[in-house]
Amino acid sequence: MGFGTAKKPKTVESALICSRCDALFFDPVKMDCQHYFCRACIEPCSDCLMCGADIHKRTPEPKLEDLVELFIKVCGDLDAFEAAAAGRAAADSKATATDDDSNAATRDKGSDGGAEQHGSEATSKSSNAKDDVARAEYMLQCALRSMAGGNFAAAAARFGRCREQLVSLAEAAAETSWSEDSCCRLGDVCGSQGVCEQRLGRLNAAEGCFKDSIHFLKKSPVRSGQVVHALAVSNNKLGDLHYSRQEHELARSSYSDALAIRQQACEVQVQDDDGCAHVSAALNLVTSLLKVADIEEVLGNSKAASECLAKADNLLVSVSGNILPGSADEAKHRGLQNFSMKLGATLNANIDDLKVS
Ligand SMILES: [Zn+2]
Ligand SMILES: [Zn+2]
Repeated sequence: MGFGTAKKPKTVESALICSRCDALFFDPVKMDCQHYFCRACIEPCSDCLMCGADIHKRTPEPKLEDLVELFIKVCGDLDAFEAAAAGRAAADSKATATDDDSNAATRDKGSDGGAEQHGSEATSKSSNAKDDVARAEYMLQCALRSMAGGNFAAAAARFGRCREQLVSLAEAAAETSWSEDSCCRLGDVCGSQGVCEQRLGRLNAAEGCFKDSIHFLKKSPVRSGQVVHALAVSNNKLGDLHYSRQEHELARSSYSDALAIRQQACEVQVQDDDGCAHVSAALNLVTSLLKVADIEEVLGNSKAASECLAKADNLLVSVSGNILPGSADEAKHRGLQNFSMKLGATLNANIDDLKVS
């Protein structure tokens, strides 16, 4: 495809990017009209998104996929990519020459050649960790870009690879315990991967991802505000997943875990400063209280539901004076208030039913 000889960097990069999701190709296929897309991006279409031609077949393009892999390997560095692509092209043409010749060349190198190879291997090993950090970071960017472009299959796969890299880095770096930073990154990556799996309808995989996210976050040596928030979010996502499958007991367990984590954090904060008066922390706590209230209502536990609802309402009132008009907090406050009112009405109706019967 002439990547090795392309001069304009933008052309090289854009040749590796799908016009539908605006991210690096993932499982690319070629249309009859010679346009390329990720398989997932073009799957639902009957016409080419670039030229409108009818689609009769989608031909897999492993060579393009290889180039994308090469681009990922060099973390999107265009110069390194061109050099690698040119090297590969040269190696390819050599390989298509006679095999006997290349074997002979290897044998002629003798013992000195072997020593040289060992030397360069050692050098590449010492710079591996830095490369791995960069690659994990680049993989994360690719995943986020695919996610933003709506290609959840690509995003899920890239988050998965990012996670593998982060795990091996964290394991290599930590002798006894993991750093807060590694735990938060892994918690985020697994959580995002879970969201993608959920969007793809792969609920078992999503459940596993949310559980992994919680697992990694719990490894953190400190319960910082960031860890607390991420833990609560992942528990709520797991709860929502169970809820959607009508696994109400499991949903309650996850929502309750999230609530306990937030309540505990607020208690610590209250001792430090004015803690839960901090608006966003309070609103997050209200969210958790309402989720638990809702699931208790679904499970028929009106008393527990009412208690949580009352706590949520008190908090909503107590923070209302500290909310800036027009802020995101104001919108969230209003949304929570509406939810609380609806849930209150349902609970009252249920209690009236009980009185009647
Ligand atoms: Zn695409
Ligand atoms: Zn086309």
